[in-house]
Amino acid sequence: MQEKGTLSIHTENIFPIIKKFLYSDHEIFLRELVSNAIDACQKLKKLGSLGEYEGDIENLKVNVSFDAEAKTITVSDNGIGMTAEEIKYYINQIAMSGASDFIEKYKDKGEDKQIIGHFGLGFYSAFMVAKQVEIITKSYQKDTEPVKWVCEGDTEFDITSVEKETQGTDIVLHIAGDSEEFLDKARLQGILNKYAKFLPVTVVLEEEVINNTAPLWTKAPNELSDEDYLNFYKELYPMAEEPLFWIHLNVDFPFELTGVLYFPKIRNNFEVQRNQIQLYSRQVFITDEVKDVVPEFLMLLHGVIDSPDIPLNVSRSYLQADANVKKINTYITKKVADKLQELFKNDRKAFEEKWDSIGLFVKYGMVTDEKFYSKAEKFCLLKNVEAAYHTFEEYKEKVKPLQTDKDENLIWLFTNDAEKQDTYIQSAKKRNYDILQFDGPIDNHFIGILERNLEKTQLKRVDADVVDKLISKEESAEVVLSKEEQESIIEAFKKALGDDKLTITVEALPTDELPVVITLPEYMRRMQEMADAQGMGGFMMPSQHQIAINGNHTLIDKIVKTEEEAEQARLIKQLYDIALLSQDLLKGNRLTKFIERSINLVS
Ligand code: ADP
Repeated sequence: MQEKGTLSIHTENIFPIIKKFLYSDHEIFLRELVSNAIDACQKLKKLGSLGEYEGDIENLKVNVSFDAEAKTITVSDNGIGMTAEEIKYYINQIAMSGASDFIEKYKDKGEDKQIIGHFGLGFYSAFMVAKQVEIITKSYQKDTEPVKWVCEGDTEFDITSVEKETQGTDIVLHIAGDSEEFLDKARLQGILNKYAKFLPVTVVLEEEVINNTAPLWTKAPNELSDEDYLNFYKELYPMAEEPLFWIHLNVDFPFELTGVLYFPKIRNNFEVQRNQIQLYSRQVFITDEVKDVVPEFLMLLHGVIDSPDIPLNVSRSYLQADANVKKINTYITKKVADKLQELFKNDRKAFEEKWDSIGLFVKYGMVTDEKFYSKAEKFCLLKNVEAAYHTFEEYKEKVKPLQTDKDENLIWLFTNDAEKQDTYIQSAKKRNYDILQFDGPIDNHFIGILERNLEKTQLKRVDADVVDKLISKEESAEVVLSKEEQESIIEAFKKALGDDKLTITVEALPTDELPVVITLPEYMRRMQEMADAQGMGGFMMPSQHQIAINGNHTLIDKIVKTEEEAEQARLIKQLYDIALLSQDLLKGNRLTKFIERSINLVS
């Protein structure tokens, strides 16, 4: 046979546009052609299993080859093939109108890589790299004539008879001058490794098999051992450390989704660990930007999600609003919560050991997702400065006897820097108070969420007040100083420190506490932190720190009794600087002077 024809009157412009506007993602032509070849094999397999095809369906495969001299790349399959009629219908009409629709819709958004990368432009993406494309194909159906279709990137096509022994299709691309980079084994291998690594039919490039046709996520969990999961993890991330644990996802209603999510060990630099989840659609790699599909707080997970129900041919904003995507989000969140709950129940010790890594997800999830909070409050752990772990319930019971204030509020004390706040921690410990460690990157937000959700509970940093007042009790100790003595020492402090705006109080602290204590009230600190978080770093709240004079300390008594003003001022400055030092606030010239004075004292 010999036939010529024109593709369609609307399509005159399509080839230059295909070529031009998809420039950033030219490599996806190979994904498209290989996907078509895979589909052709899968269809034949299906017919075989239905008894409608009697030939061999065990050795279906896709072969990618290139000829640097002839400047061709060929994608061959031994799948279903096409008759001349089918070419005319599927290639000239269906594929052409698909490509035209695509171009029509997105020609103005040509630089949006997001959209293009996720798309199936289909067969005609071949013209991104080829100046001429041949289809040589023979249908699986008996007594059909093999045919060759040729198109040179214009609206004309040719169909002629050819010789071809076996069923299947060869797509031969005559590579254009500006796309010769693809006539290179390493380049082709790189593209196939990205898109074809887990395709369900064997893909071969120059006799090397590219893919694992039955990747782990397609198998049943009960057929898999821990080793299988760890090996698959290595296959995905050859450089990474072993993951902590994993979750096998598997739903088929109301949407289809399979996959495996791994919890990695979290390192400090966790930005680089983001975006490690790969999104597939029926084993074809789509993208590793899964931002809208996976809940934000799970972005640090690694692994694979495979779903044909995630719409890929739409814009991002549509994706966010998509009902399936929302359901997928909810499903993944629930699965993760269930898995954590199970780990906690079955092996608490192991759970605690992993907490430093897991805790970050859990807290982040609790901060950002109410539903997750209500699940996670049963297994979220609180770590104290002794590195003991308690659940919320356990912790409430533990601190209730000593840390309930006179208004029946539970006061949870915490430090965000155990080294710096050691003086305060030691004071609180003398009272047998418990101190939590909240030194993680999102603990600030976590504290806010805890206060919002826990009833009659307040959280206070351990240096928020003098130890007696951190948890205010009914009975208040007496100050041994008289009222006049208290007033005069406050005056003496203001004078010696040369600042009459300081907030100074006299407190009845135990004799073994410091003579002067600097505190940073909880609400002031939080306001400052908020200002910092909003980038108002330079904005310092006026006189944030408060000075508490320990009215029961012998050195304060000594100052009261000191007649000579210069000597009094010297003592006050020294005690104040010591207090600053214990808050890590003694800096610069003040620090130098303090050191000089201290040397003089010793010598
Ligand atoms: P899509 O794959 O999204 O349907 P394409 O433009 O890639 O769109 O292909 C259009 C049609 O051409 C396919 O649906 C299929 O019927 C046919 N086709 C393409 N490649 C092959 C092939 N290698 N073997 C058999 N049929 C094919």
